[in-house]
Amino acid sequence: MIYKRSSALFAEAQRVIPGGVNSPVRAFKAVGGDPIFVKEAKGAYLYDEDGNRLIDYINSWGPMILGHAHEPVVSAVVDKARKGTSFGMPTEIETEIAALAVEMVPNIDKIRFVNSGTEACMSAVRLARGFTGKDKIIKFAGCYHGHSDSFLIQAGSGAVTFGSPNSPGVTKGTAQDTLLARYNDIEQVEGIIESNKGEIACIIIEPVAGNMGCIPPVKGFLEGLRALCDANDILLIFDEVMTGFRLAKGGAQELLGINADIVTFGKVIGGGLPVGAFAARSEIMDYLAPLGPVYQAGTLSGNPLAMAAGLAMLTELNQNPEIFKSLEGKTEYLHNGIAKVLDEENITYTINRLGSMISVHFSEETVVDFDTAASGNNDTFKKFFHGMLDNGIYIAPSAFETWFITEALSYNDLDKTIEAVQKVAKTL
Ligand SMILES: *Cc1c(COP(=O)(O)O)cnc(C)c1O
Repeated sequence: MIYKRSSALFAEAQRVIPGGVNSPVRAFKAVGGDPIFVKEAKGAYLYDEDGNRLIDYINSWGPMILGHAHEPVVSAVVDKARKGTSFGMPTEIETEIAALAVEMVPNIDKIRFVNSGTEACMSAVRLARGFTGKDKIIKFAGCYHGHSDSFLIQAGSGAVTFGSPNSPGVTKGTAQDTLLARYNDIEQVEGIIESNKGEIACIIIEPVAGNMGCIPPVKGFLEGLRALCDANDILLIFDEVMTGFRLAKGGAQELLGINADIVTFGKVIGGGLPVGAFAARSEIMDYLAPLGPVYQAGTLSGNPLAMAAGLAMLTELNQNPEIFKSLEGKTEYLHNGIAKVLDEENITYTINRLGSMISVHFSEETVVDFDTAASGNNDTFKKFFHGMLDNGIYIAPSAFETWFITEALSYNDLDKTIEAVQKVAKTL
């Protein structure tokens, strides 16, 4: 395929935008080459600036679970836009989407909307600290919770890909309050709590990790965290920015049957517009301003266009919960198809999958945490990525990412994808 115009646009972009992109992983640093510039998208397909059509497995990194330019979402946004795009005053639609989210997600009474997943996680941690009166937090290596200072201690996708686990600009003071644990290692968490008795405000985790490929929790791990939190007055934060409204109506909490104390959202909840949210039981949420002492605010929070997109998206997922089964079926089909082809070509791989999240690792080991995710062969991944692209399939430009299955994908698209894997596998 030819990407002449994309490359020219990238050159232009680099003159005025650092690295030519507004979020680093878009820049193809991990796989080499120039990024593809998108012109438009519809359903399961991206149309790039050179006129190529690509089957999309990123879907804006998750939000487009029903496909691009999904009609009910588009018309909700267009209708709203005609009536004014921001007021900085309360609007009825904010209550409508809040009530729907509270109905869909188990174990939450109140929700507050912000503008990104980063903001949601940053605010959730502040709330946990305010509520418990403690400073330290535990996070897991390879989990990504956005780019706020407390989390850039050894971040997931972006920073891992670029081999700079600690970002300059994050102070030592901030770093001291973030304790790092290994995903799926409950004994280690127990030890960390033991040696920081009475100091830990919260444990924040992706209940199904999606920023080091897809890594489901091993049996008993989340249950163990829940028990440790209960025994030590620690709040458990599920970062469901990726898994919320994707793995089930009620996200990972519902699918896995484990309750968190605070839950964060992003991606799907905004229907493709910039939205994040965090939610908890009333006792915790009422600790926020203006009711409580913990400050949190936003000029564009609860923006009418964003709320309209989110409400249209959640309404459809709420009315058609069979979508989640259908997505899982498609993901399983893809898994089986890819596994068969890679087996036939004698390629070393591990495929992880849960619900509509799936990742292919060119690794001999079972991938259960950051170290095993990092054990994958990156050169093989690079070849795989470019090979798939040449065959019209767009997967994430990094080995540390999940593929996001969208309901807009047909079984014919999946077959084409498996055929592409077959062709590419012969070149690996
Ligand atoms: C994407 C993501 C974030 C950050 O969300 P942004 O909207 O990019 O700020 C946080 N946590 C998880 C689990 C994510 O996947």
